[in-house]
Amino acid sequence: MEICQRCNKREAITVIGGRKLCEYCARDEIIKRVRREIYDSKQFSYNDKVAIIIEEEFGPLSALLKFIIDKACYKCKLIIDEVKVNVQKDNINDIIWNMIIEAEKLQHKIKVLPFTSDFLLSYLIYSISSQDSNYLSFAKVMTIFNNNIFFIPLYSTSINELKGFAEIKLRWRDEMFNKIYEWTLSYLQENYELFHTFHSSIKLFQGKTCKLCNAFINEGEYCQRCNKILASLSRPY
Ligand SMILES: [Zn+2]
Ligand SMILES: [Zn+2]
Repeated sequence: MEICQRCNKREAITVIGGRKLCEYCARDEIIKRVRREIYDSKQFSYNDKVAIIIEEEFGPLSALLKFIIDKACYKCKLIIDEVKVNVQKDNINDIIWNMIIEAEKLQHKIKVLPFTSDFLLSYLIYSISSQDSNYLSFAKVMTIFNNNIFFIPLYSTSINELKGFAEIKLRWRDEMFNKIYEWTLSYLQENYELFHTFHSSIKLFQGKTCKLCNAFINEGEYCQRCNKILASLSRPY
């Protein structure tokens, strides 16, 4: 049995920031990490309304995010709702697009996206080979646009690092994305430090963003999905 490198008492079950930690210390490290993000952002105040935006495939992260955010800022007495978004499509970009658009309609001050670092790294690989606009614009702790504050508390935390709370397994309907995701997870089991190098790769994509959903786009003002919606709204009937 490997001993936790923080408390030197209990059995280590996961690695966080290069240290082997037990269940108790692992939880504490993640809560502290999210607490730092909340305080550094200066966006949270007492009694703020927070919405966790969840599509079915992110389901296992919903209650966990609520628990972590609540604990991370226990003095704020945040009012946290889990908001389910139903998407009938399989494509990962369609799913994210719907989550963003639905989140923008909410009155909550803070909108939480359930993206983890393993998800974002898989998404980076997926986006390289795709011609689609992409949502790597959300691969950071806070994204503010159109008077919306999007908080991505787990952008640098992988599901492996969440083992102190629960063993999480995510499965994606988008077959291509699911393959990349499974490969990423198995590869990174041994090379976990790579999770933290991908942020610099995201700079490759930086440029214009869609005015409605904040996706990175190559040209124009809106992404193809928002363009479609706007065109259908302006059609004279
Ligand atoms: Zn420990
Ligand atoms: Zn858009």
